[in-house]
Amino acid sequence: MRHHRRLIGFITLTASMGMVLGASSAIAQTYPAKPISLIVPFAAGGPTDIVARTLAAAMSKPLGQTVLVENKLGAGGTLAASYVAKAAPDGYTFLIHHNGMSTAPALYRKLAFNPLTDFEYVGQVVDVPMTLLGRKDLPAKNLQELMAYVKTNASKINLANAGLGAVSHLCGMLFQKALGADVTTVPFSGTAPALNALLGGQVDLLCDQTTQTTQHIKAGTVKLFGVTTKERIRALPDAPTLSEGGLKDFEVIVWHGVYAPKGTPIAVVEKFNAALRTALKDPTFANRMIDLGAEIVPDAKQTPEGLRSWLQSEIQKWGPVIRSAGVYAD
Ligand code: ASP
Repeated sequence: MRHHRRLIGFITLTASMGMVLGASSAIAQTYPAKPISLIVPFAAGGPTDIVARTLAAAMSKPLGQTVLVENKLGAGGTLAASYVAKAAPDGYTFLIHHNGMSTAPALYRKLAFNPLTDFEYVGQVVDVPMTLLGRKDLPAKNLQELMAYVKTNASKINLANAGLGAVSHLCGMLFQKALGADVTTVPFSGTAPALNALLGGQVDLLCDQTTQTTQHIKAGTVKLFGVTTKERIRALPDAPTLSEGGLKDFEVIVWHGVYAPKGTPIAVVEKFNAALRTALKDPTFANRMIDLGAEIVPDAKQTPEGLRSWLQSEIQKWGPVIRSAGVYAD
């Protein structure tokens, strides 16, 4: 009798597994059946938006469907992340975000999502250096003069960023910490409007990514004090690193991950990941990223596990740094 029950159990289990596999391969065959939304947490024209739109165009080809970029602004990128965490897990809503996914848990004590449990992970995209910029007529020719100027005039300095959780905020916070200077920070909905304010002389300093700043540095419309990488970068070979300029070991690299809502079918995540990896090899995408100072991540980081494990390590890395700075958004 018991043998009989075990046999029925085995047949039922095999049948249900067959149904699940059948369903997921059916999803994979029909997906995507309509355009896909890629949510960008910052204003159009900024560095994240530039990466997103270039990636979306390159992914639309292998997917055979349009990947539409939508900018959802606010709270240093956390509103967009929360929106995607709560979106339908149907494969038609994805998020592209940067280090902000790893700094938000320390910055926001009432965070509306958990980066480690509310998402499926697609993969990483590019690593982007940052540049410390001043308005054109700031009275400092190099980093040494800038540090002296900021220390003396901290109460008059306006440092722009894209809100708490943005990498421009993180870079600016580390800069102030290194100098022991407390300046006024001015948040914007992204570093596109922040850069406009710098170009217009409404703010004095901005730390932003080369994906947006390279063209302005080459055009001479802003003052460059250094790049936030250990070594000089190909896109700006004459630009000193902040480390060589006097801020020893100052390093901020902006990494980018693509996420889906938790529960998105694995077959869909795998198909979107395959399109991501194809896009990263697309010469149009790759050449534009290289021109803008961005580095395409190695294959191992382009996988779901390559993003999940990196995110976990970054949360562990930045948590103590942010808590020691005593910075909270809420
Ligand atoms: N990456 C943001 C943007 O694209 C800026 C930031 O995080 O500082 O505007």
